[in-house]
Amino acid sequence: MANVLIVGAGGVGQVVAHKCAQVEEVFENITLASRTKAKCDKIADMLPRKIDTAEVDADNVSEMVALIEKVKPDMVINVALPYQDLHIMDACLETGVHYLDTANYEPLDEAKFEYSWQWAYQDRFEKAGLMALLGSGFDPGVTSVFTAYAKKHHFDRIKTLDILDCNAGDHGLPFATNFNPEINIREITANGRYWENGQWVTTKPMEEKRVFAFPEGIGEKDLYLLYHEELESLSKHFPEIERARFWMTFGASYLKHLEVLQNVGMTGIEPIEFQGQQIVPIQFLKALLPDPASLGPLTKGKTCIGNIIKGTPQGGGEDKIYYVYNICDHQECYKEVQSQAISYTTGVPAMIGAKMMMEGKWMKPGVWNMEQLDPDPFMADLNKYGLPWQETWLDKPFV
Ligand code: NDP
Repeated sequence: MANVLIVGAGGVGQVVAHKCAQVEEVFENITLASRTKAKCDKIADMLPRKIDTAEVDADNVSEMVALIEKVKPDMVINVALPYQDLHIMDACLETGVHYLDTANYEPLDEAKFEYSWQWAYQDRFEKAGLMALLGSGFDPGVTSVFTAYAKKHHFDRIKTLDILDCNAGDHGLPFATNFNPEINIREITANGRYWENGQWVTTKPMEEKRVFAFPEGIGEKDLYLLYHEELESLSKHFPEIERARFWMTFGASYLKHLEVLQNVGMTGIEPIEFQGQQIVPIQFLKALLPDPASLGPLTKGKTCIGNIIKGTPQGGGEDKIYYVYNICDHQECYKEVQSQAISYTTGVPAMIGAKMMMEGKWMKPGVWNMEQLDPDPFMADLNKYGLPWQETWLDKPFV
């Protein structure tokens, strides 16, 4: 029976709170804390059982430490923003509690995300007998576990990996991002990057485009190559992979809006002087755009996120092409937890990762990426807690 402290009361925090509240046999006590306590209270009012709420600025380590000392959780589930990761890890080390997040650390003043900062905590967590689980969302997270599962059950050697993230949902608004606009736009406007033959290959934003026919009536969608953080850890932990790429679907109208916003400088992360005040354009843009949480009731359609893996099958023979994916329906998610599928597909794996740790199935001291742990109990829980997956063999590779 665990006592958990969830930090962050945005779209993802709302789903994590719901899912932990549903699994009372594991998460006996829950506290939801965020910078704005009113958001925590609003979420708490939606839940089937009572949880505690608190206000905290997670960038302030001593404030985090004081909260942890008061709540005395077994672990912190960090679903605030990537900027808070290191501060929350420091607070966990200082107070002796386990840690989980869904996105790797990113400095506020630099559009750059990589695991090096968090991997550098390995010795400190190990020596303290504490676990830090990194990237327990969908991508990274489930896509990392999908890769480990394919290797464990189907392949002697993985040669190529393509992660395909399709959101075929429609919210009917001219332009909105499905999760935190600042994080989302920083990710999309950066150069693309993929792993090939032991090195990184850089592409211009949206330079590489493919079309793929997604299953279950979703149909053909345009996909663009992006850099995504799981490529860094997967290429490290599966050095046999010859090429690893990440693709995301975008509609023409979304890309046109983004192009215009970029051209006029609205996606910039450097502060500018405006009427005697310093403002960061992308933060101002965030204030104008719809809150991702408000898209829940509006969004219809499905997401389909999965991995296409080519390699030598177990036992040898000709290369085979495997596709493992989850399909998630925006409206079904909304019915269950009052959030759309993007938050749902992140929040459910965060709860399952925490459950794996608290049940002892994944508990081991150190800093770990998802693919380093046994995929089987996690895959079983995906089916049980709302993200069922399917697997199939394809005739043609994804080129
Ligand atoms: P939101 O912007 O909706 O929510 C972020 C929450 O964190 C808000 O409640 C915000 O509070 C709070 N917060 C921000 N700064 C602080 C701080 N200093 N101290 C305490 N709380 C703070 O984001 P999402 O819910 O969409 O995303 C949450 C995380 O999930 C992000 O890290 C995102 O990158 C990650 N993510 C991961 C995915 C995956 O598949 N792995 C996919 C999608 C998201 P306030 O309201 O006061 O600003």
